[in-house]
Amino acid sequence: MLAAPLSTVLHLCLLLATGAHAQDRTTEQGEAAVTNPSAECTPYSYPPVAAAVAAGQFPPIWTNASKLLPNDTEARAKFLVINGSVPAISPKGTLSGDFSNFTPSYPPSDPDCWWTYHQCVNPKLNGLSADVASVPEPRTLGYGFDDGPNCSHNAFYDYLRDRKQLATMFYIGSNVLDWPLEAQRAVVDGHEICVHTWSHNYMTAFSNEGVFAELWYSMKAIKLVTGVTPRCWRPPFGDVDDRVRYIAAQLGLETVLWKYDSFDWKVGTAGVTQDTVAENYKALIDDVKAGVFNAIGAIMLTHELNAFTMQAAIDNYPQLAKAFNHIVPIAVAQNRSQPYAESNYTMPSFEQYTANHSAATSLNGLNDTSNGVGSGKAAQASSSNGASSGAVQRRLLGSRSALGSVVGWVVASWLM
Ligand SMILES: [Zn+2]
Repeated sequence: MLAAPLSTVLHLCLLLATGAHAQDRTTEQGEAAVTNPSAECTPYSYPPVAAAVAAGQFPPIWTNASKLLPNDTEARAKFLVINGSVPAISPKGTLSGDFSNFTPSYPPSDPDCWWTYHQCVNPKLNGLSADVASVPEPRTLGYGFDDGPNCSHNAFYDYLRDRKQLATMFYIGSNVLDWPLEAQRAVVDGHEICVHTWSHNYMTAFSNEGVFAELWYSMKAIKLVTGVTPRCWRPPFGDVDDRVRYIAAQLGLETVLWKYDSFDWKVGTAGVTQDTVAENYKALIDDVKAGVFNAIGAIMLTHELNAFTMQAAIDNYPQLAKAFNHIVPIAVAQNRSQPYAESNYTMPSFEQYTANHSAATSLNGLNDTSNGVGSGKAAQASSSNGASSGAVQRRLLGSRSALGSVVGWVVASWLM
């Protein structure tokens, strides 16, 4: 054995003594290993995002994407094609959801199938598909979380990973550019990503161009960071009508809503308390027991918005897993094995997923991960050819030390 120079030994001892194992804030794998929430939420710079922002490829983060960027010729060309056939429905109310000047004159027949008015999910406009507000598989929960990526989500994603539980993550474009490595984790872990707009406003209030821009730049942000282009979206506050649905559909996005709302997002306002959320979870579970989902599955609105909403998800997971036969991502419940525009990424079919992931085995799955295996069967099963499974991605991502080549691989792998 070669003797190390004394200075090296002393340096190593010092590092060990101070616990200064440097956190790696440059790779998905490094970022996923950070466990302290305030450390997780300390901003970092991610060169591909910094370069795209510096090049003016995105609207300023957390501003309303009311207009396409002047130099975005690709978006402008696509919008021009779409705009000619958008149904003649006027924008409604304000971006912050004040419809007080609009609703009094809106026909009670709900001609625009405006969800905010009476929860309409079956479009009146010919050619539009019904919104996804339930899942087709009986006694199954289509499991999903809005408003991410949240910078402090590692404990929550670890919890899901350790139970081999996948979900659908509805990501806000501005959050994706703020926390790109957190967004990458969703894909690496095998979750499905859908769009949740750029600035999280009421979508029926935007002009046609604004609706397009809110979706377009979110899709572009997710593609830049993760290499995949979603095919589904959820309107913030559920605010959608046939005009907004049409523009989303032209961008290849299916509209996903819900029929149950946990109200986790509303705690602390309008008299909503943590008890309200517990009651809403219980109401869903009572409906499972009462046979409400014997012919069709459920979707409940839940969030990775903050520490409370993520903890509520963790606290209620065991009861959900006992009540439902299966808990699966929306794409899996729909047997949509190709969740993204890129054809070389697949998710398991419902049959494949549930063969290894009944809700009961999810509860018992902790034993299987005691050997430190990360995303386990869930991720491995997420690709029929293995080339783009979560486990493989994590291994490949982790093997790249240079940031550029990480993104290069992800983009190259999915683009081609
Ligand atoms: Zn939201």
